[in-house]
Formats: sequence, C-alpha cells, structure tokens
Amino acid sequence: MKIAVVSGKGGVGKSMIASSFAILFSKRGKKIVACDCDVDAPNMAIWLGIRKSKLIRKVKTSKKSFIKNQKEAKKCNLDPKICKFGAISLENGKYKINRFLCEGCGLCNALCPKGFGLKDVENAEIRIVNTKFGFPLIFAQLYPGETGSGKIVDETVKEAEKFDHEIMIIDSSAGVGCPVNASLKVANYAIIVVEPSLSSYADMKRVLRVIKYFGIEFFVLINKFNLNEKVSKKIENEFKDRIIGKISYSEKLIDCLSKFKTAFCDEKIKKEIEKSFENFLKKLNLK
Ligand code: SF4
Repeated sequence: MKIAVVSGKGGVGKSMIASSFAILFSKRGKKIVACDCDVDAPNMAIWLGIRKSKLIRKVKTSKKSFIKNQKEAKKCNLDPKICKFGAISLENGKYKINRFLCEGCGLCNALCPKGFGLKDVENAEIRIVNTKFGFPLIFAQLYPGETGSGKIVDETVKEAEKFDHEIMIIDSSAGVGCPVNASLKVANYAIIVVEPSLSSYADMKRVLRVIKYFGIEFFVLINKFNLNEKVSKKIENEFKDRIIGKISYSEKLIDCLSKFKTAFCDEKIKKEIEKSFENFLKKLNLK
C-alpha cells in the first residue's frame, strides 16, 4: 500500500505528518519504507531527526544541449531566438548555451544535429538513511537549477520499492506539478494536509483535482487549525467524513525541528497526531 501525503501549498506541515505517520505505523509493527519525493526541498529526514545519509546513486533524468561543433553550428546559421527559453546566444560569432536556461527540448539539435548536441545530465542524487525507528528513508535531491523532477520521483519510488515493506509513505512535493503527479500516480491513498488560510484552501482545491483525476481515495488533515477557526470550520463542513484530524499551531515545534527532534517532542501535538492517525486507520479498516 502506498500513501501519499500532499498539499497544494508548501510549508503547511506535510513532511511533519508523513514522518509522524511513518513512525506510528512502524510502532504498530508494520513494515515501512519512507520515501521523500519532495525532490526540490526534501526535509522528511529533518523531521525524523536525521543529519547524515548515504548516496545510493546519481540520476540522469534530464537532457541539456551543448555545442557539438562550432563550425557546423555556424553553417546552420540558427537564430538564437528559436530557443523559446533564451538558452542560446551568439557572442562574437560564437554560439553559446546557457545550461541553466536550457530545458532540453531538443529543437536546436533537431534543426542542426552536427552543430548542436543533446546529452543526458546528472540532475539529482538518491540517498538513503536507516532511521532509528526501524525503517529506511529514501529521498532524492534535485541539483540546483536542474529540471526533470517528475522522472526523479519515478526513480526514487523505484529505489524505495526494493525494500521489503507493507506500507510506503510518500512525502510528495507541494503544488500540482510533475513531481506531484509522479507521487500520486503510484498512490493508493492520499492525505491532503491543509492549513486554515485562504491560499492553502485554494491550493488544496487544485491538488484535489489531480487526486480525483487519478481516482485516489483521499482524506484531509487540518494543520495549525487554531490559527483561523472560521476557515478551519469551513474546511471541516465541506469535507466532513474525509477529515481525519486537526493539529494545533505550536511554536515549540520550531524549537523541536531546530534540535532534530520529531514532532512528538511536543506532547499536545503528539496526542493530536496520534488521534488523527487512529482516525485514519479506522477509515482504512486497518489495525
Ligand atoms: S535543447 Fe531546447 S531549450 Fe535547450 S538550447 Fe536547444 S532549443 Fe533551447
């Protein structure tokens, strides 16, 4: 079974819930593998109190253009404007590629194959940690300025699959882009973490469209609910039996995180997460 923890908006507590649920499942004796697919900003490890990790492998899931032969490139006489990403420039009669702007669409290579090449580039690495809670955490880190995050999620899930497990907890990226699609397409269940702000509520609706597209059963957890009880109530009324719990805002959690402690270091938050977890198990008819 794969459970994806998602949110429309970033910073709402998704990684905190994913890591806490992984710990609670593990305490129940379930074989867990945690998979942090938030490749732009993987921080599930921090919520699990981990500082060090080991490289599994580097991945190449994106392509970049390069100047294969300057003379041949000049013969083609391509207008740099053919690149809609502004990655090609012509300076003092020489073509140049800005690798940070190149999206690897391959147009320059198709129009001038002898002058412009296209190659696979290392854009991320997949790492592993054996947590003190008895389960492995697999996560990927996208290199700064790189693309291809959806395919990196595919590779990360593939690595996580290699570990014996009953439940995979996937900490998805926020938003509705490729890495979110890649996390949701393999999930059996989704937990949407939302905070009671209008922006989080609006972004939640967007991610819900993706969840419905994939036909995944979903549940909703309201984090920091006491910051705006009116919006919180609105979410509760709208999603009724989909709601698995409400977690309070806690300044102590910031302190816990900075000391590499889990969310359970705040006793009140611990109880609220445990209650949400129990509700989730009931919804799934799990023990
Ligand atoms: S591969 Fe596409 S994005 Fe990259 S430089 Fe060529 S045309 Fe531009």
